[in-house]
Amino acid sequence: MNEHPAWTHLETVALHAGQEPDALTGAVVPPIYQVSTYAQDGVGGLRGGYEYSRSGNPTRDALQACLAALEDPVGAAAGTTLGMAFASGLAAEDTLLRTVCAPGDHVVIPDDAYGGTFRLFAKVLGRWGLDYTPARLTDVEAVAAAVVPGRTKVVWVETPTNPLLRVADIAALADVAHAAGAILVVDNTFASPYLQQPLLLGADVVVHSTTKYLGGHSDVIGGALVARDPELAAQLAYHQNAMGAVAGPFDSWLVLRGAKTLAVRMDRHCANARSVVDVLREHPKVVEVLYPGLEGHDGHHVAVKQMRDFGGMVSFRVAGGEAAAVEVCNRARLFTLGESLGGVESLIEHPGRMTHASAAGSPLEVPADLVRISVGLEHVDDLVGDLVQALG
Ligand SMILES: *Cc1c(COP(=O)(O)O)cnc(C)c1O
Repeated sequence: MNEHPAWTHLETVALHAGQEPDALTGAVVPPIYQVSTYAQDGVGGLRGGYEYSRSGNPTRDALQACLAALEDPVGAAAGTTLGMAFASGLAAEDTLLRTVCAPGDHVVIPDDAYGGTFRLFAKVLGRWGLDYTPARLTDVEAVAAAVVPGRTKVVWVETPTNPLLRVADIAALADVAHAAGAILVVDNTFASPYLQQPLLLGADVVVHSTTKYLGGHSDVIGGALVARDPELAAQLAYHQNAMGAVAGPFDSWLVLRGAKTLAVRMDRHCANARSVVDVLREHPKVVEVLYPGLEGHDGHHVAVKQMRDFGGMVSFRVAGGEAAAVEVCNRARLFTLGESLGGVESLIEHPGRMTHASAAGSPLEVPADLVRISVGLEHVDDLVGDLVQALG
């Protein structure tokens, strides 16, 4: 919450929400409160409401206020939409799922979910008694058919998806979830709040791996939840403290610093991705380019409706199958071979053998000839040159 009228322009929100100059010193940037506990003025006499940093920390609070305002500026200013920062994206997901679900409940998940999210369902929460059904989220009827009224507590959406860049219609899926008494959760990691604000389209909770575009500099692991309904938000905040997977002060500070430049970074990520896509589409060794900005992409019209631009993630299929795709990854120089995405530097990877290896043999297995790139902020001519040489 902040004392200013609600800013709604993301550029302004990112720089100022939750970031009043420090009351004591006037420091323009929220200080890193690297502290575990706080002196009390007599038993229960808290200064500023802080007693212990798992429960509350001023640096984390600054980030949380900023995250809430990025996803829902008006709701955050009113104090109804809350942000919560976690030690990782998966920690945020685990806290969310064990808050809103109990053993025996059911969740609908994307049939091309982020590999770590799928593993959380398949290997961890499955054992805990949470049932899940993978569904093709681009097919609203298929999602409606996968929902079990009374048992389904969550419809889990990623859009665009990783690594196939499919686009799901958030507003339509919110209706499906709500009709069954479930909540709609959107993992907004790939788009970032600059390109897409799911809460304003009907979603109940947004999940982020702030490790990616929000942090933006490949120097921190973090996660976030933003919830719009005050009662649900309060339950999540309770569990954030009760389960304890909070973001530390320095990590919170790094994500907040990254978020300040989200808008300008995303504009350049998108522009560079568009140029790279144009070259890949014409390349004889490329069988197919997956990018929501392409007219021929299945989800293009939904993307136009719900996104500001189409993002910096591009996947493509290489002629010659798995060996050829692996070879492209190995030959790239400027694109660093590595997992993760959303940093200033470009990355390349083979999802089948790397990020999505844990989905092998499951319905979520990805094509073996697929290469995924996270298009960074290097000069676009250098990026294109590297891909062309890697394709041989
Ligand atoms: C990276 C990622 C996650 C997991 O986040 P961590 O910070 O690595 O725990 C979840 N969803 C998506 C889409 C991701 O890219």
